[in-house]
Amino acid sequence: MVDLNGQFEAIKEQVNSKFATILETSAFINGPEVHGFQKDLETYLDVKHVIPCANGTDALQIAMMGLDLKPGDEVITADFTFAATVEVIALLQLTPVLVDVDAETFNIDPVAIEKAITSKTKAIVPVHLFGQCANMDQILAIAEKHNLYVIEDNAQAIGANYRFKNGKKQKAGTIGHVAATSFFPSKNLGAYGDGGAIFTNDDALAHTLRGIVNHGMYERYHHDVVGVNSRLDSLQAAVLRAKLPLLNNYNAKRREAARKYSKAFKGIANIEVPVTVNGCGEICDTCDCHVFHQYTLKITNGKRDSLVQHLNEKGIPCGVYYPIPLHKQKAYIDPRYNDADFPITNQLIKEVISLPMHTDLDDEQIAYITDTVIGFVNR
Ligand SMILES: *Cc1c(COP(=O)(O)O)cnc(C)c1O
Repeated sequence: MVDLNGQFEAIKEQVNSKFATILETSAFINGPEVHGFQKDLETYLDVKHVIPCANGTDALQIAMMGLDLKPGDEVITADFTFAATVEVIALLQLTPVLVDVDAETFNIDPVAIEKAITSKTKAIVPVHLFGQCANMDQILAIAEKHNLYVIEDNAQAIGANYRFKNGKKQKAGTIGHVAATSFFPSKNLGAYGDGGAIFTNDDALAHTLRGIVNHGMYERYHHDVVGVNSRLDSLQAAVLRAKLPLLNNYNAKRREAARKYSKAFKGIANIEVPVTVNGCGEICDTCDCHVFHQYTLKITNGKRDSLVQHLNEKGIPCGVYYPIPLHKQKAYIDPRYNDADFPITNQLIKEVISLPMHTDLDDEQIAYITDTVIGFVNR
């Protein structure tokens, strides 16, 4: 699914020399590389504050800890996403409220958000799924109308642009009050281990978050709030710092692969290719509206599961993200949910299949994959 070797070859010397310096200076934690990466990422994203931390799940949790949320407050998020998003809501004793998604973009449906709002709703967590932003025009309008926080889960869309209806472009993760991202190795900007970060333009919130990641400490050995221990280590920061200047190039390569996939699948019955929105009608090479963390097809004739099996037999990796809606996961089942309120998610889990997606897919691999998929789906 993911081949990271090409990326490593290109930054090998830089990483080796940075690693040597870190090992020689023992600056393993909070060293200059961590601070340097923080600054580089702030510049890249054009955001005031980046707070590095240990992983994306922590980043989500810490972002929520920094807001004045109380047990029982309701937080609305998508039914069709990775469990981390809902997990941290539940861990903080907030009440997760899952809602359905849009059939074309797989992202949280603003109409479903509005329907789910109650007097207890305090925040919305849009997940920019598979590399494309949720409908932030509408989500910001809803949040403003109901006085809600917007916490972006940007684990899958780092480097993506969102284009507002008025033409303004902004980087994913810099649009809401606060955002979380992950540097898990397979993400678009991946470390060689775990890593994460929180972004915000709010100075006071940034100060709060910097204390929370460090045991609630704002002054040495003075603990003002209950915090956590969540750090990005220097070795990971060095890798990320070497990769960040290449991120646009990585994302362009993913988009290029996506464009080739979609071209091959064009007009083929029973296969629906990913849809790019946000002002970009097709997968173009310039606008960064979709950074294709995943390239996800819908197989609409009931053959998805047999296709997975067929691809496995042909040596082609593939994935089903996600096979079970969160509202049906044992940990998150709640009598408040009515299965009929999730028609899109319930359909998507039967139809989606993600194909190999990384920065080193060549034409021969893409042709083999697309020929195999096309040959099977309509036979
Ligand atoms: C990867 C991911 C996370 C969690 O990131 P980790 O670094 O693995 O903790 C959260 N949300 C989404 C949507 C993700 O894809």
